[in-house]
Amino acid sequence: MKSAPDTTLRIDSLQWPVTVLGYGARIGIWFQGCSIGCPGCCAKHTWNADEGKLVALTDLLAWIQHLPLDEVNGVTITGGEPFEQPAALHRLVAELRSSVDFHQDIDILCYSGFPWKRLSQRHGDILQHLDAVIAEPYVEKLASQWLRGSGNQTMHLLSALGRDRYAKASKRTNGLQVVVAGDDIRIIGIPNRGDLERMQEKLAGLGVVLGEKSW
Ligand code: SF4
Repeated sequence: MKSAPDTTLRIDSLQWPVTVLGYGARIGIWFQGCSIGCPGCCAKHTWNADEGKLVALTDLLAWIQHLPLDEVNGVTITGGEPFEQPAALHRLVAELRSSVDFHQDIDILCYSGFPWKRLSQRHGDILQHLDAVIAEPYVEKLASQWLRGSGNQTMHLLSALGRDRYAKASKRTNGLQVVVAGDDIRIIGIPNRGDLERMQEKLAGLGVVLGEKSW
């Protein structure tokens, strides 16, 4: 992969494989920092733009390069708000697309809490590298759909691969993935309303009391 020594990204975390945020087995990249502040957001730990960690794009690409890329179906970029780091996001997706190691069947799906109108007016340079975008802020009172936390969020299919994988979104359901990351337990995916609270209650019934949580 090409190097990009002048670009850093502020991220919350990286994860491989992610199986609940898009088609197949995916690389997950969580950006850190979100000023949108949707009530009921389940990722409040990603809001503070001074937290998380700074990662050089070269290091991030090197980490990706050492994954089994023949097993990778896609990349999901979420957060936090990826479009609040537009230069870094642009560089990341452009580098991924130009990499000789990045095969044609790897789709890039990106989440944003900004309206689609704003993204399409301001960020065509980023969108040209994406296969699908899920846009609009999370609205707690609206029921979730596949890959979307609330029904107002819109899915935009930007390539033939994106259309092939995500056009039938209404027929799919969400799942959650639990991973242990150091001292933390991470729950990945789109929870249905009340899922996290029910899980917390069930764990408490088993004698497991959660410490700090992000929702
Ligand atoms: S845009 Fe996403 S991360 Fe930001 S507050 Fe809304 S749901 Fe949370």
